[in-house]
Amino acid sequence: MKFIADAMLGRLARWLRLLGFDTLYYPRISDSDLLKFALREGRVLLTRDTHFLRMKNLNNLFFVRSEDPLEQVKEVMRAFAVKEPLPGRCARCNGILCKVNERDSIKDMIPEYVFFHRGDFMRCEACGSVYWEGTHLRRFRAMLDDLFKNGEVPA
Ligand SMILES: [Zn+2]
Repeated sequence: MKFIADAMLGRLARWLRLLGFDTLYYPRISDSDLLKFALREGRVLLTRDTHFLRMKNLNNLFFVRSEDPLEQVKEVMRAFAVKEPLPGRCARCNGILCKVNERDSIKDMIPEYVFFHRGDFMRCEACGSVYWEGTHLRRFRAMLDDLFKNGEVPA
């Protein structure tokens, strides 16, 4: 499942990445480029722009109804029957996150408190951003807990 989000859906795009979905997002992309990426790479186009709905030949389009980013995530998870989160992707650039084996290699990139109090770190292969479970990521997954409970997606 790969996505591309339109310019109005930046928060949704970052959250889908944290949930592990390959999601492209360019804040200033044109409609024609959005369509090009979606068709060429087989991506589902996520949009709140109703004029896309009039394009009849576009079958991999998902119209996002809610204006609330958390509700938007839930809409997408329900529509595509996602039962559990995947390993995360980088919220900034969509890169793949890998476990950091050499803790010392990231010591200068994160706050000292975090370095000494957290066990596992992930680093983005593409841009080098460092992530750790236990801050915003855990809270975010907790907000979505009801979606993944018992493998059922609530209506
Ligand atoms: Zn990155």
